[in-house]
Formats: sequence, C-alpha cells, structure tokens
Amino acid sequence: MAKVLVVGNGGREHAIAKALLASLQVETVYCAPGNPGMLLDGIQTVAIDEMAFAALVAFARKNAVKLTVIGPEVPLAAGIVDYFQTAGLAVFGPNEAAAKLESSKVFAKQFMARHQIPTAGYRLFHDLTSAIAYSREQVTPQVIKVDGLAAGKGVTVAMSHDDAETALVKAFETTETVLIEDYVAGFEFSQMVLVGGDKYVLLPTAQDHKRLLDDDLGPNTGGMGAYSPVPQVTPAILAQTVATIIEPTIAGLKADGLSFEGVIYVGGILTPQGPQVIEYNLRLGDPEAQILLPQCRSDFYQLICDLLQHRQPVVQWQTTDTYLGVVLAAPGYPGTTQAGVPVPTVAGADYASVAGKPGALVSAGGRLMMVTAHAHDLATAQKAVYEKLGQLEVGPLIYRHDIGAKGLAEK
Ligand code: AMP
Repeated sequence: MAKVLVVGNGGREHAIAKALLASLQVETVYCAPGNPGMLLDGIQTVAIDEMAFAALVAFARKNAVKLTVIGPEVPLAAGIVDYFQTAGLAVFGPNEAAAKLESSKVFAKQFMARHQIPTAGYRLFHDLTSAIAYSREQVTPQVIKVDGLAAGKGVTVAMSHDDAETALVKAFETTETVLIEDYVAGFEFSQMVLVGGDKYVLLPTAQDHKRLLDDDLGPNTGGMGAYSPVPQVTPAILAQTVATIIEPTIAGLKADGLSFEGVIYVGGILTPQGPQVIEYNLRLGDPEAQILLPQCRSDFYQLICDLLQHRQPVVQWQTTDTYLGVVLAAPGYPGTTQAGVPVPTVAGADYASVAGKPGALVSAGGRLMMVTAHAHDLATAQKAVYEKLGQLEVGPLIYRHDIGAKGLAEK
C-alpha cells in the first residue's frame, strides 16, 4: 500500500487527493499544506508551505512517500519538480524549464510559432511609448498581457484605445515585457491532457467561468465554476484539437528537449478557422479538476504511475452524465476578502481557502469551496447544484448564478 503526497491547498488539490485516496493501492494521502476542509474526507494535512521544497522532500523521504503530485503553478514555475527529481523521488509535474510554457507568455508564443500551433497574433513591447503607439494603430478590442504568472489577473481585454492605454500603463508598472495580442472571438473551452513523455490521456472537455459576475461581467478571477463535458466541443472538434494542438504540443516539447510527466492544459477557443490556443497551463485547472477527476472510472494512482513510466494507461471515464460545480467565495473577492465568515459543511464538496475545524470552517482567503452535482444533461445538473446551494446557509458568501448557461445557450 502506498503513501502519496499532494502539494497545494485549494479545491483542485482536494479533488486530486480524493481521486488518489479512492485507489485500492493507496493507504494514505497527505496534502501539504492542505486545508481543514480536506479532513472531512480523511486526507491528512501537513503544515508545510508549498514553496518549502527542502522540507517537502524531507517529509516525503521520512514518510516513504511513493508519489508526489504538484497542484499549483507557483511551485512548478520555481522548480519544485527538479528538486524532487534530484532527490530521486517520483513526482508528477513539469520541471522548471517546461513550466515556462505557463509561466512566460512570450515563451509560449514563441513555442507555438516554432511548432505551427494555432494562436492569436501578437507583438512584444519593452517600453510604454511604443506599446501605446502600436495599440492606437490596432483595432479594438485588443488584449494586453503581462509576461508572467498573475493568478488569472495579468490579462486585460481592452474594449477601447483608452482602456488599452490604462492597461498598458498599469502593466509597465510591474513588468518590463508586455504583449499586445489580437482579440479572438469565440467559445472558450479547457482541454486537459495527462502526459508521460509521448504517452497521453485526454480528460473530458470542460468550461471554466473566469469572470466574477453573472453574464461574464466583472473582473477576472481564478475561476467561479465549471462544467463538463461541453456540448459545443463535438467529437470532430475534439479530434481537430488533438491533431492541430495537443499532439503538436507534446511533439514540440519533445523536440525542444522539454518532455515531462504532468499536465498540459490548453485554454482553447473555437474560431471559424478551427480551435486556437488562448493560453497553456502546466497543471490541472481549478475549478475544472473538481468536476473532471470525479469522472474517472479507473484507478487514478495507477494512471499516474503508468505515465511516470511512459506506459500508455488504460483509462475509462464516465460517459452518461454532465458534471457541474459552483464556487463559493468570500465577500470582496477577487480584491481584499473578509476573513472569519462561516463556511457551510457539505458532503462531497471541495474546500479551498478555509480555516477552523470541520463543522466550523470559516473563510481565510478568496475562493472557499465548490458545490458540485451531476445529472444526465447539463440543464438538470445545473438545477441540482443550484437547489443544493439554495438549501445552504451561505450568509454573505458570493457565487455566480449562471454556471453552465453558455453550454445551454449556444448548443
Ligand atoms: P488567460 O489568462 O490568458 O487565459 O486570459 C484570461 C482570459 O482573457 C481568457 O480566458 C479569455 O477570456 C481572455 N483572453 C485572453 N486572450 C485573449 C484573446 N487573444 N482574445 C480574446 N480573449 C482573450
């Protein structure tokens, strides 16, 4: 029986830990630092920060941990995987060099150009004056992107030249490299792939909801809800995504000497010319993981072990239902949030930035938990989640009321 370690503290890590704990080969799942909501599911939290690499390696060694799975992007970008590999420990995630595909938008754009992977046109700027001059010459909307990790907050879709200028001024206050990208209109979707060298497993397609408010209004967030599968991404579109994006990405990483064992997440958009890449992430999406991993009908621990050995896993996913989840966040999110607000206890929910004890959880950050349901079709799954939410004491906690609406509207 194996002991495994999950690094991170959010809803995504809660979902990863539950999927691993469901394996008959796994006796213990540790999560560092985890959160107290995970205790409801028998996950053991460990008080070590996700950036304390030496302490994490020492813990894994001392407790004979057989596998470590890294959840969030920040430790990946800082080279946590290299650290574990140097220590001779099995770890699932990209090394620092490969993680640049997420942590540097310039690196990602150059990678896509090199490997003919479809994406929006862009120009790179190192000073404000020439960026503004270029922006004024371009049509709006246009997209301003800071080059670096920004927790979903480094991107501005500017609807006017004045908005673009404001975004550029703000961007150059924190960075020296800014991209101005062509705006692409279309239906967005998330396609995640678990990879081990040149072997891979597609997860079901999902759709995130990045804006804070209903109807996609308000600021960008880490993600307010998700559902899967997505009716608009037909088998033909999925096949095209695999042929023009997924396989060229895996082959491109190999050609560049960057192949790894971990996740490739394509933030995709459907255009009349076919699917394009909006962004890459090199880890599971949060909140998408919370509605994707429960769809796995195989041993998730075995799946990861196979990929680590570059063996093609045999995997089954459920095929009958739509899974949908809604995030509850603290008042003030994504700005300064209110701590200490009571958070409801719900069986099966995935918890994130909470403190306190099971049964008496309180807010300690932005996104707090996700409530999920599944049903034969999207409309019924949506109804089931909102009925569950309607029965909860949510007080001042905030959530969107239209998760799944786009899947229904544009079908
Ligand atoms: P990202 O962090 O790169 O995923 O960007 C956040 C959000 O900004 C995306 O989910 C899109 O809604 C939007 N976005 C980013 N790039 C573009 C683009 N080139 N065209 C249209 N929308 C975009």
